[in-house]
Amino acid sequence: MTYDANNIFAKILRGEIPCHKVYEDEDVIVFMDVMPQSTGHALVVPKASSRNLLDADTAVLAKLLPLVQKVASAAKVAFSADGISIMQFNEPAGGQTVFHLHIHVIPRFDGVSLKPHTGKMEESAVLASHAEKLKAALSAVV
Ligand code: 5GP
Repeated sequence: MTYDANNIFAKILRGEIPCHKVYEDEDVIVFMDVMPQSTGHALVVPKASSRNLLDADTAVLAKLLPLVQKVASAAKVAFSADGISIMQFNEPAGGQTVFHLHIHVIPRFDGVSLKPHTGKMEESAVLASHAEKLKAALSAVV
């Protein structure tokens, strides 16, 4: 399997389509998932091109997890979450639907089940408000 530069996250990275951005540095962008499985569901996306974890450069991965930890900590505070689920899918059989490496950071609440993966599109105003909350909490830890 090869990397297809026309995937939706590559288009977001090139600024061709919009996103509700939370954070960006030279290596990584963080934005809200448009079909959140829970309040505050965010995606941590390395800028380097790889389909998923299986073909990613180890140097990219080494920088990625510390930021995932920070986003998870910030999300717990921003959304008063009881826990955080980290998810990452590889290839269609593994549940992957967008073929550019990304890590899901999903706030969890006691007794609340996750909504379906790639279920319902959230309203833009809600995503914008969640992005601002997460951005504010993240700025305290990065
Ligand atoms: P995967 O199934 O590849 O692990 O996750 C892809 C995620 O991207 C899904 O959770 C889906 O809701 C989200 N997604 C799909 N298209 C878009 C988009 O255009 N913008 C954003 N922000 N998220 C998207």
